[in-house]
Amino acid sequence: MITEEKCYVMTCDKCGCVCNEQGHSDRNNAIEAADDSGWYISENKHYCPDCYEMDDNEQLVLK
Ligand SMILES: [Zn+2]
Repeated sequence: MITEEKCYVMTCDKCGCVCNEQGHSDRNNAIEAADDSGWYISENKHYCPDCYEMDDNEQLVLK
């Protein structure tokens, strides 16, 4: 039997890459996993570690 299950993945707002291709059944789990992987997470922006860095003033800088 095959059933379709909704899952959540975090994708980078800049390059579009996917944080964890396996996905998560819960939205918060997807956020936590991305957080553990060093992603930048704000209310409506998510960037993978390859796409951003923090400058000396702790400001987000997109590469
Ligand atoms: Zn990216």
